[in-house]
Amino acid sequence: METLRDLGEFGVIARVAQMAGAPPEAVSQGIGDDCVVLDLGGPEKLLATTDAALETRHFDLAWMTPFEAAQRSVAGALSDIAAMGGRPFISLCTAMLPQSGEAREALEFLRGVAETTRRYGAPLVGGDTISGINHYLIDLVVLGWAERPWLRSGAHPGDRLLVTGSLGGAATAVSLALNEPARLKEARFSELRRRLVDPTPRLAEAAVLARTGFVHAAIDISDGLYQDAGHIARESDVHLSLEAARLPVPEAALVAGELLPPRAPWWPATSGEEYELLLAVDPDCVALLTSLLQEGGLAPLTEIGTVRQGEGVSIVREDGSEVEMERGGWDHFRPPTT
Ligand code: ADP
Ligand code: MG
Repeated sequence: METLRDLGEFGVIARVAQMAGAPPEAVSQGIGDDCVVLDLGGPEKLLATTDAALETRHFDLAWMTPFEAAQRSVAGALSDIAAMGGRPFISLCTAMLPQSGEAREALEFLRGVAETTRRYGAPLVGGDTISGINHYLIDLVVLGWAERPWLRSGAHPGDRLLVTGSLGGAATAVSLALNEPARLKEARFSELRRRLVDPTPRLAEAAVLARTGFVHAAIDISDGLYQDAGHIARESDVHLSLEAARLPVPEAALVAGELLPPRAPWWPATSGEEYELLLAVDPDCVALLTSLLQEGGLAPLTEIGTVRQGEGVSIVREDGSEVEMERGGWDHFRPPTT
């Protein structure tokens, strides 16, 4: 009997894409990118995305408030608009609230949705409310606009790979919560906790970079850098190589690492929970793009690798040797066994 584990999350999505068949003509990008792209004839394309988060699977109210849980989930949905170089427009939220829950807690959750969508310029204009099992679930639909949406399929051999912000902060906060919960409250780790409960969707960075026209392909790395790099490799029909020594990791995540069980090599390339953008850009424009974000006081951009002919994703070690991993990120039907 074939199991969902055999198929994997991306096998399931490939099947559903077959079942869905060809989209209407106005859909210039259907299943397979961070957002759907609709060409309605105006100067900008309409973007649409939906993203769900379930208590216990995506957030744990033992480590964060209901407001923070909602805030984090909203940031995850908005991150898909950033991944297209888009500008958010409006949101609709479906919320499942615990049947026997407290009104105060549930309203805090909904306040997190309303305030965070407004904060990032995608005010809440509709949705659905249901009761269910004794957990929270949120699904956020976000619409946005982009003049020339960044696709996963636009990378060329010779492009340079850049990543916004830093990697591994939120995953380190989760690891502290599981292994050293008291330490997560220490001031020196507050930055890590903030990355978990208040991640910034890289919308401001996307707005500045999109205007240049020098970004060829992009994805947000919510399932882990290595795995999400694989989507660019597949869709663009190229090979991506990521240099382990260049991955930007916050100092506090390295300090916390000393207190945690040993992590797999290149863990910042495989840790999820992150809403940074991976960009394939024109090789002559790296310095320009980096300085544009710096001048704007936005998240830093770090050059972490290159695009070449071929397929797949490799990690380049400091001695120059390259390794490819069998799996390097989150799959809903293949959760980690350890
Ligand atoms: P992301 O992590 O960027 O949100 P996903 O990995 O969740 O993207 O989804 C990959 C692609 O598959 C997206 O284009 C998404 O719209 C599509 N997709 C995922 N699940 C379904 C589904 N159940 N039905 C139709 N399309 C889906
Ligand atoms: Mg995405």
